[in-house]
Parts: sequence; structure tokens; C-alpha cells
Amino acid sequence: MNTSTDSTALPETFLQRLADIFPGEALLTDPGDCWTYGYDNSRRHALPRAVLFATRHEQVGAAVQLCNHFRIPLSARGRGTGTTGATVPLHNGVVLSLERMTKILVYAPQDRYISVEPGLTNQNLQERVRGDGFFWPPDPSSAAFRTIGGNLACNAAGPRAVKYGTPRENTLGLRAVTGAGQEIKTGVRTSKGVVGYDLTRLLLGSEGTLAIITAATLKLTPLAEATTTLRAIYASVADAAAAVAAIMAQPLIPCALEFIDGNGIALMRNHSAIELPDRAKALLLIEVDGPRQCLEHAARQISKAARNKGLLEIAAAKTAAEVQTLWQTRKALAPALRKAAAKRINEDVVVPITNLPALIDGLHRLEKKHHLPIINFGHGGNGNLHVNLLLVSDSPEQKIRAQRCLDDLFNLVLQLDGTLSGEHGIGLEKRDFVDREIDLNSPDLMRGIKNQFDPNGILNPDKMLPPVD
Ligand SMILES: Cc1cc2nc3c(=O)[nH]c(=O)nc-3n(C[C@H](O)[C@H](O)[C@H](O)COP(=O)(O)OP(=O)(O)OC[C@H]3O[C@@H](n4cnc5c(N)ncnc54)[C@H](O)[C@@H]3O)c2cc1C
Repeated sequence: MNTSTDSTALPETFLQRLADIFPGEALLTDPGDCWTYGYDNSRRHALPRAVLFATRHEQVGAAVQLCNHFRIPLSARGRGTGTTGATVPLHNGVVLSLERMTKILVYAPQDRYISVEPGLTNQNLQERVRGDGFFWPPDPSSAAFRTIGGNLACNAAGPRAVKYGTPRENTLGLRAVTGAGQEIKTGVRTSKGVVGYDLTRLLLGSEGTLAIITAATLKLTPLAEATTTLRAIYASVADAAAAVAAIMAQPLIPCALEFIDGNGIALMRNHSAIELPDRAKALLLIEVDGPRQCLEHAARQISKAARNKGLLEIAAAKTAAEVQTLWQTRKALAPALRKAAAKRINEDVVVPITNLPALIDGLHRLEKKHHLPIINFGHGGNGNLHVNLLLVSDSPEQKIRAQRCLDDLFNLVLQLDGTLSGEHGIGLEKRDFVDREIDLNSPDLMRGIKNQFDPNGILNPDKMLPPVD
């Protein structure tokens, strides 16, 4: 989808000064070269007028100041795996790619932190610290491709958030350039700190609308000594949803509690060699971690909570290969969905755990009412479901049907005390729905904050905040 058709050329002096800051191959201006930097995983696209590849903090500062001077919109970009159009360069803007800033700046395992540049991938970070017995908890399916900057800007999480939290709970501080071109250093390098307002948490999840992150100090967590992975299969999604609520109501928190519904199981059957009973209508992937001598007890307690009248089978993976297959199958669901329909709309709503059965029930009603197949899976332990509406074609009729279904879905989620996005963010896709969730006074307060950080509105304009009437 083309979001912008504006073809205004950039001022010549702007381009000359850009070339001074980003010499040689660090600057792309040919539309053919720039094209691939204009999309993300939402399939929206707008051609950037230029793409800049920063390798140093100072270049980011200089680029923001120059864009301010010429009032040119600027979109920060990691690897473009976001699902909401948040990095798509609207309004004839330029893209600032951080993917070449991949250095580890400080590694302090004794103080349990690491400072990195924003272009490092999540997976490269994990590989660096794993040998010393640490990990950084956010662990999305896209870890191999996504950058730490994109990860932080979306507050994107993954399965382990249920026990270890999201980036907001696992980031100590940031170095960034505000939309006004000022350098800021937020947060601390200590395990506690309460000086001033918490600008770190404010920037996390701000989707590149307030500042561009040039370095991040991340809290490291020791890897657990041992892990057990359980597969629980249910005769109905309602039984599985009830089991999630029961597991989360007892004191031992699993480090992952993933939920897959019957349609998701059918997709898994088509795309993997997984063997499941014919009656399987929902599956939970439960991982428990901790000290080796406590693990058996923890797995027993969680299995007990997982048992209800609809449980068909519960078993622990016996080998590392079995564990790997289970996770690979779960993580293959997102890419498999791309092939499952002509078009898909992927939401990531969240409700309080005890409202999960009501959400599942409501989703069944919406599937029937709108005649659209819906595949649901996600981080059950957080009450966070990836709701995928499958469209048989790109036709206007299907789009209207999907819009009505989305409208009902968001109303349902809010009625159930939930939130519109758990980890994908707002970007362009959900902007029109934001003021259904936040109170009347907050949008103006948020716009005031945006204005303070980015007075000329150059950073990712017209994204994330609800449109002004
Ligand atoms: C197959 C697949 C699986 C996925 N699985 C998950 C999942 O399990 N959980 C999940 O939460 N998400 C998931 N995602 C979504 C996506 O990976 C995340 O949103 C990710 O955090 C985006 O990172 P990125 O580097 O690609 O950022 P981009 O898409 O390039 O950018 C995303 C946003 O961050 C901003 N940004 C990027 N870098 C910076 C920076 N340095 N400073 C300020 N702002 C910046 C951009 O302007 C934009 O607003 C998945 C995507 C795919 C394609």
C-alpha cells in the first residue's frame, strides 16, 4: 500500500549538507536504492527521499539538527520488522537507518548491565552474554533480525515477558537525540535510582516520535540453571483459557505460557511435522525455569493447575531436540500466516488473565458475525493474544468486513478492561483507535510532551498519537 504519493524533491543545499555528514555509501538518494527502506512488515510503503546510514551518535545529532533547519520529516529505522507502519517515512521524509551502529560499548557483567548501540540485533546481544550465564529477557520471534533500537522504541517483548517483563522493566538508561537535536542521557547504571522524571520509560514505546536512541544500557538477568518445557493439549479453547487463568493464579510463574487456538493448530499441522491428537482444539506451551532441584516440584505444581476437564494430554519434552521443535513450531506461526491468506490483519490485544475466556468467546462470535477466519495465538500468560484476521482477497468488500470486525474487536477488548496493543505498538495502523482507550485529557498532555521533545514535529510525524479533530 502506498501511504504517500508526494514527490517533492529535497532542497539542493539540504542534500549537500547531508552528503557532508554521511559521505559516500552512507547516503542513498537514488529512488531505486531508497525504495526498500520505505516499508515495514505492515506492507505499507512510502518512498524515502533519502536514506542515511549512521555509524556514530554525532551523525545522528547532526542529521536531526539539519532536518530541523529545513523542516524535513525524519523516520528512525532499525530493520523494518515492525508491524504497524511506524517506520514508513510519511510526508516526503527521509529515513535514518541505525542498522550500522552495532557496537557493544560497555560490558559489565558484575554490575549486571551492558551498554550497546541501537543497531545490534537482539540475537547478537543474547549470543554475546549467554556464555557468561546471562540473558536480556525480551525475546521476540524476530530476534534474529530486529534491532535493539526498534525493540526499545516499540517496547516489544515476547514469551518470557510473563515472568521477566518487557524492555520497560529491563532497561536502565538511554543516550538519545531529541527531535530538537539535543543530546540527552537518561536513567542510571545502578539497580536503583529515582532522580528526576523517568525519561527512560517515556522513550521506551515512543516509536521514534520523541527522540532517536543512540545507545542503551540494558539490565542483564542470570540464566536459570534448568528449564522444563511442557505441552498441554485441550479439547476446547475455553478449557485452555481457563487453564491459563488457573496457572497464573498459583504462586509459581512460568517463564513462558504460550497459547495457540484450533485454527493455529491447523496451520501448525500444515507447516510442520508436529503430531497432535485429532481432538486437539487448543495448545499451551508452558516453560518453567529455576534451580535444578526445584524444577520438578515447580513443573508438578503448574501441571496440576493446568489440569481441567478439557485437558487431553500434558507431557514434558524429553530431549533438547523436542524442546527446540516445539519452539520452532510456535515461532513459525507468524511467517506461516503470511502464506495462509491473500491478506492478514495482525492485532496484539491484551486483557487481564481472568478475562481471557471471555475474549476467546467473543472472538468466536466475531468470526461468525463477520464471516472471517480468525487465528489466535500468543502470550497467554500476559493475556496478550495475536488476533489474525484472514482476508480471502484484497477486495474492498473484504476490507470493509475486516474494518467492522476490528471495530468490534477493539470495543470488546476495552469492555474487558484490556488494551489495544501489548507489544506491536500503534504506528499508523491503530492510530485512529487510540482515543477509545486513553482518557479525554491525556491526548493533549501527550501532544505537549511531543512538542517539548520535537518542537517542529519532524520525528515520525502523524504516527502513534490520535489525529487532531
Ligand atoms: C516474523 C516476525 C515476528 C515478530 N515477532 C514479534 C514478537 O514476538 N513480539 C513483538 O513484540 N514483535 C514482534 N514482531 C514485530 C517487530 O519485530 C518489532 O516491533 C521490533 O521491535 C521492530 O524492530 P526493528 O529493528 O525492525 O524496528 P523498525 O521496524 O525499523 O522500527 C520500529 C519503530 O521503532 C523506531 N525506531 C527504530 N530504531 C529506533 C531508534 N534507534 N531510536 C528511536 N526509534 C527507533 C522506528 O521509527 C519505528 O517507529 C515480529 C515481526 C516479524 C516480522
